[in-house]
Amino acid sequence: MKAVCWHGANDVRVDNVPDPKILNPRDAIVKITSTAICGSDLHLYDGFIPSMKSGDILGHEFMGEVVELGPSVKNLQIGDRVVVPFTISCGSCYFCSRELSSLCDNSNPNAWMAEKLYGYSAAGLFGYSHLFGGYAGGQAEYARVPFADVGLFKIPDGLTDEQVLFLTDIFPTGYMAAENCNIQPGDTVAVWGCGPVGQFAIRSAYLLGAERVIAIDRVPERLQMAKEQGKAEVINYEEVDAGEAVKEMTGGRGPDSVIDAVGMEAHGTGLDALYDKAKQAVRLETDRPTALRQLIVACRKGGYVSMPGVYGGLLDKVPMGAAFNKGLTFKMGQTHVHRYLQPLLEHIQNGDIDPSFVITHPMPLADAPRGYEIFKHKKDKCIKVVLKP
Ligand SMILES: [Zn+2]
Ligand SMILES: [Zn+2]
Repeated sequence: MKAVCWHGANDVRVDNVPDPKILNPRDAIVKITSTAICGSDLHLYDGFIPSMKSGDILGHEFMGEVVELGPSVKNLQIGDRVVVPFTISCGSCYFCSRELSSLCDNSNPNAWMAEKLYGYSAAGLFGYSHLFGGYAGGQAEYARVPFADVGLFKIPDGLTDEQVLFLTDIFPTGYMAAENCNIQPGDTVAVWGCGPVGQFAIRSAYLLGAERVIAIDRVPERLQMAKEQGKAEVINYEEVDAGEAVKEMTGGRGPDSVIDAVGMEAHGTGLDALYDKAKQAVRLETDRPTALRQLIVACRKGGYVSMPGVYGGLLDKVPMGAAFNKGLTFKMGQTHVHRYLQPLLEHIQNGDIDPSFVITHPMPLADAPRGYEIFKHKKDKCIKVVLKP
């Protein structure tokens, strides 16, 4: 089959690789009909996630049709149309039974690697390095899905791939980010980063009852999407000091909650951004938290800091003094996708949201190298690439 394979920083290729096979009784093989490139794939593309090997198949946002089932999968049938959560979960461990599926204890065969770095291992992830299980990803013609009886979510007829594909990651991720803000009636939520997750966080904040959403970015088309489709008030941080602007727009009190939809590769305009770039380049720091620093300072006293953006390792100069003295609450982590599938599908079916709004670049799987290139450099007004095998 054809698959998008990682061969080093800034080097992805569409290779011919062996078809996946059923390895365990709870596996399924899915023939992929749509798959997307995610902002977190860029951390792999840029070479910032350790334990990648040349030839690893990328991709964790994918859906398709069940073509083969292991003998223990009783709740699905060949031909079912399914979406695949990016987190791999067993469905029955301590964490899965508490709806914390991204923290599954049984899905990372390389847990020892993660334990060394993080103390304990979270769930395995599709196409996201050996540290997270070494699973082949879904930017391919076929994929093997472990724990398919809990890992595949059947899609009812009448919805397009484009409407449901983002149930795999960015819609639940934006939604959990907003949920982590503990939104109360009248609240103002400020979202740093208007990439795909930021766009879904904006929409979700309104779905959860926010009165105002302020969105911060520097890319004109992202700000435009946030404003026109998302109904957010927008700030271009290259034109004004975003922290000061947010303070002014909230009557000097600050937003009730702030969302970091940027993560470890933030760009910035200040001295600290240069400091991070230099330290990260010589591997003295793993992550560049410029957005995080700013939003911690901007948040109102007693507010919520929600962090859907990915962090990998050690961060410098995070203003914990500000966080402590303002009594902030932090919520973060990989999304517990499984618990959001049904409720968010219902939002789509009810017409509350059509997630396809975020797609700017549909293209054939064979064009994946170009897709990565334009998405990374935000060329051609690219916000979200969907690949069609
Ligand atoms: Zn993703
Ligand atoms: Zn589990």
